[in-house]
Amino acid sequence: MSESSDTPEYEVPDHVDNPLVHLIRRYASPYGARYAVAIVGTALAQIPQRVPALVVGVALDAILLSSTPYDLPLVPSGWVPTTTEGQVTFTIGLLVGAFALDGALTWLSGRVAGTARLRTLHDIRVDTFDALVGREMDFFDRRQTGDVMSVLNNDVSNLNGFGNNAVEGLRFVTQIAVAFAFMALLHVRLAALLLVLPVGLALLGRWYTTRVEPVYEDVRESVGRINARLEDSIDGIATVKSFAREDRERTAVADASREYRDRNWSVIRLRLIFNYSSWSVSSYSFVGLFAVGAYINLNGAPPFLGRSLTAGTLLTFLLYSKSFYGPIRQLMLDVLDSYENALASSKRIVAVLETDRQANETGDDLRVTEGRIEYDRVDFGYESSDEQQLRDVSFTAEPGSLVGIVGPTGAGKSTITKLLFRFYEADAGTVTVDGQDVTDVSPRSLREHLGYVSQDPFLFYGTIRQNIGYGVDDASDEDIEHAAKLAGAHEFVTGLDDGYDTQVGERGESLSGGQRQRIAIARALLREPEILVLDEATSHVDNETERQIQESIDALAGERTTLAIAHRLSTVRNADTIVVVDDGRVVEQGSHEELVERDGLYADLWRVQVGDTDAVSEAFLQRARAEDRPSERIESAVDGEVSR
Ligand code: ADP
Repeated sequence: MSESSDTPEYEVPDHVDNPLVHLIRRYASPYGARYAVAIVGTALAQIPQRVPALVVGVALDAILLSSTPYDLPLVPSGWVPTTTEGQVTFTIGLLVGAFALDGALTWLSGRVAGTARLRTLHDIRVDTFDALVGREMDFFDRRQTGDVMSVLNNDVSNLNGFGNNAVEGLRFVTQIAVAFAFMALLHVRLAALLLVLPVGLALLGRWYTTRVEPVYEDVRESVGRINARLEDSIDGIATVKSFAREDRERTAVADASREYRDRNWSVIRLRLIFNYSSWSVSSYSFVGLFAVGAYINLNGAPPFLGRSLTAGTLLTFLLYSKSFYGPIRQLMLDVLDSYENALASSKRIVAVLETDRQANETGDDLRVTEGRIEYDRVDFGYESSDEQQLRDVSFTAEPGSLVGIVGPTGAGKSTITKLLFRFYEADAGTVTVDGQDVTDVSPRSLREHLGYVSQDPFLFYGTIRQNIGYGVDDASDEDIEHAAKLAGAHEFVTGLDDGYDTQVGERGESLSGGQRQRIAIARALLREPEILVLDEATSHVDNETERQIQESIDALAGERTTLAIAHRLSTVRNADTIVVVDDGRVVEQGSHEELVERDGLYADLWRVQVGDTDAVSEAFLQRARAEDRPSERIESAVDGEVSR
């Protein structure tokens, strides 16, 4: 169960009345012929399915009791043999025929319905995924991964459940309709009287669903809570263990579980009441029917029932009446339940599918001639934040140059690079590549020319080779190794038991942060981007890794325009230009020597980093003291620890 039903951001656009109907129209109609065959087949199968009870009743009267002539409704009397043996054979033939026809129709409709349903769901799943990945970054910023995943997982499988149950529902309804039609042919007044049974059961079901729904909501909520609790404890297991807080986690899980248990018990209690009462209605009316039937059979019918009842007809009625209980119960429990679920799920799916997404393909193609990047008076604030994260940011990265971007944590360094990728668009000012505004070119073509290495690179589940080759179709082994060498990854990769075929876990957990980043650098280099953006790893890397990352950065410089966000100033010391960002503004820029000479923020950051704290300016210290958490602020400036 997802908690996403509470997420207000999944809003169905106005032009969609009923999201479930909308999905059915759009995704089921291509398979309309199959669905039609399935529906007709399922409905038709109910006719032969109800035949045996009818035939057995007639045969009982005519053959076994010899009380009435062999008279089957809808069958011309000329078709019925006159001898007893002939009638027995005829009966057996009818039974076999009915079962065979039922089997064939059920098999056919099950098959056709199954393939149609799976194809519909496949289309919905792929389209929804497509719509999701086409969304721009701010969509994902506002949502948790689990929440987005549940649209693809839970919501799509809820539709599957509903599809299944809808067929069942149709089966139940036609089953009851055919049974009543047959009963009416045998004894219309008694059949009418028996209508009380399905109506009574349906009313009971209605009572149950209205009572259980609110409680069910509570249960769902506590399932969400329990899952969140478990996820938290297991995700944070290292922290739990290092603080020896297993007991505390246990108590929290136990509380959540207890709440779930109690709420679920309310549901089970209601379900038991419903089950028991509907079972009672069904069972005692069976008894009642037998009593009434036997009385009429023996004593003749009271006036309002018209004619009397044979033993065979009574048997047919009893068999039919017993067959209502299961289907109606299921109709009320499963079909309605899955309808509610599917409706809620289709809302989210439609919300994802139908909202405008940024068209990846629209816009001109970016043409990179030299690789000059220019930020011109850029202002920017995240939609989800009230503050402005960038103010009047201007700087230029000359073709082939290495530009270091430095500054305290939260200054806006990553945000600057995100605008280059057009993950977000500037509120004012422009970001241009060789004179082309990044908002004028298609995101896809823009990103084809850019390489990006994040500070926490994501390694996909697979081998190192696959991970390096991710951005290029059919990369050769030589190319992959060449890129790895450039990135300084080759040495450690070949040292691993399986070399380039080493499997890395979901997030490459078996590798160190520095190793992951070098794989990510190789991945970016393999695409031979004209421009490279590197977000230096902020976790504490050892000196050796730091040296290697610096070597990688130096190796890249001179070949292509590179923006390197640096947390350790030493790694960009050799940069052509260093842009110093503070609180969303560019406060200084120049070469390392120029900036040290200038004796501003950079010079202070540099002094802190090299341990020359005595020489740090009074202004810097005052500023640090004025911050909420001064020591943290200085530390973060010093060692690049990211506060998350
Ligand atoms: P830096 O890279 O210098 O550490 P960032 O560019 O990551 O800084 O962040 C700059 C500011 O923007 C910070 O205050 C951060 O909290 C905020 N921020 C970053 N990403 C988002 C986001 N997706 N939504 C809202 N605010 C964000």
